[in-house]
Amino acid sequence: MTLVHRQSTIPVAGPPAPRYEGPNRRTPAPPAGELVDSPGFPTAARRELDLPVQRGNLHQAMTTIRTKRQQCVSELDHWEELRLAGEAIKNRTLRHLDSYLVQLEENLTAAGATVHWARDAAEANRIITGLVKEALADEEVHYDGTGVVGDEVVKVKSMVTQEIDMNEALEAAGVAAWETDLAEIIVQLGHDRPSHFLVPAIHRNRAEVREIFLAEMGTYGKPAPPDLDSEPRNLAGAARLHLREKFLRAKVGISGANFAVADTGTLVVVESEGNGRMCLTLPQTLISVVGVEKVLPTFDDLEVFLQLLPRSSTAERMNPYTSMWTGPTGGDGPEKMHVVLLDNGRSRVLADRIGREALRCIRCSACLNVCPVYEKVGGHAYGSVYPGPIGSILTPQLRGTTSAVDRSLPFASSLCGACFEVCPVRIPIPELLVYMRNQVVESKKAEAKSKPGMPFLAHGEPAAMTGAAWMMADSRRWSAATKGVGLSGRILGKADHLGPMPWPLSKWTNARDVPIPPQESFRSWYKRERGGGSR
Ligand code: SF4
Repeated sequence: MTLVHRQSTIPVAGPPAPRYEGPNRRTPAPPAGELVDSPGFPTAARRELDLPVQRGNLHQAMTTIRTKRQQCVSELDHWEELRLAGEAIKNRTLRHLDSYLVQLEENLTAAGATVHWARDAAEANRIITGLVKEALADEEVHYDGTGVVGDEVVKVKSMVTQEIDMNEALEAAGVAAWETDLAEIIVQLGHDRPSHFLVPAIHRNRAEVREIFLAEMGTYGKPAPPDLDSEPRNLAGAARLHLREKFLRAKVGISGANFAVADTGTLVVVESEGNGRMCLTLPQTLISVVGVEKVLPTFDDLEVFLQLLPRSSTAERMNPYTSMWTGPTGGDGPEKMHVVLLDNGRSRVLADRIGREALRCIRCSACLNVCPVYEKVGGHAYGSVYPGPIGSILTPQLRGTTSAVDRSLPFASSLCGACFEVCPVRIPIPELLVYMRNQVVESKKAEAKSKPGMPFLAHGEPAAMTGAAWMMADSRRWSAATKGVGLSGRILGKADHLGPMPWPLSKWTNARDVPIPPQESFRSWYKRERGGGSR
């Protein structure tokens, strides 16, 4: 069986839990609709470009983050060596992922944790919901003057639980999942979706946050002080008071993990606010949901990643809170620990020798922060939990390229290369974008072939590419074509560029200037000046 064939038999990521639409909702409802049903990137980008306040918020925040990262990284003479080491460790891990996962399971189990394997989002949500219900079985549900108390969990910020939409699965099971990271609270209370890995509410400014807190906190717990202003420390203070009661009464905490160390069975979470430490230590039961690519072979490998990650993400020398735990410890922290190891399309990515480089990602968000496209449109245009340059290569690999948004993502880039320059694990994002573009074109061609009755122009792009390849493959054909281009240049004269053109050419000219062709081709100039024949 060839690699390509093997990959095609491995399933893509399963759909996340649908938005809960039933009665008695416990937490703020997110926006309607599923991310995978989002419009293609160009349409969504136009929608986001029409939000001037958001564009201002993004520009200000990202300019600051970029500058701080650059300063922090330039302090280290051996930054490039660290990047190479990070790349090498991740590559080795991915080559032997099956062995390291088994080793991780053995050591987690030996340390007293219970390991669960989840093929996809539905299976993960089923496991997590069952564990939560079991842990909360003897909880009494009552009203304590600040909200409904009982069936609830507190969460550390985690991309993978967003990927499977675990909050909605728990909501459907009658359990409230409370975000505790400051930016995630803003997103949750704002009935919104995150737009950035590290700063999920980067699209909001302080005045908007104040309005959200004043309008929503009282519905779900301790209200914001009525005289709340938009000073960051006062906003953080309101969130702290709102969360404190949830931390103190929660019986279950849910986390992801930045790293899972195979040789010790240790999970690691790095964060900046201390909310993670509260979630990881106060509840009696801790459930950690971990993507299978988060494994590191040895504890020593952390030395590299605990330098790469904070400098690339928060532009800090080290994170304020780095929590590591190796199973439960009697009388200290949670009594029960569960680890859910999630695949959800990752095996499929792993089977692709080129595409698998995206699995090295440590979600630092540096590539988002330097991306000129992301800075203009923000994260919501990408229709994915994983936005920006890495999302544009990871999402279509995880979900496949059948939806409009997934087909458009590899094209959501100018290929400027800034993302590779900053990536701490040296993922060649521009090369993978081109690779994924090719896959999209190939899948469109295959689709066109399988439907012979389809009109030719419905698949204009692959047809045009095939035509161009045919023409360039023969010097006589190419020579004839360039003569035609020169003729059109003479006809069009001194105009700067071709303006908007009718469909289907509008697909190109709506987004790009098309320069007027030169009046004489290089071949004809060469022949005239040097007297040679065409080469
Ligand atoms: S691709 Fe690289 S730069 Fe982007 S989030 Fe992942 S690790 Fe960070």
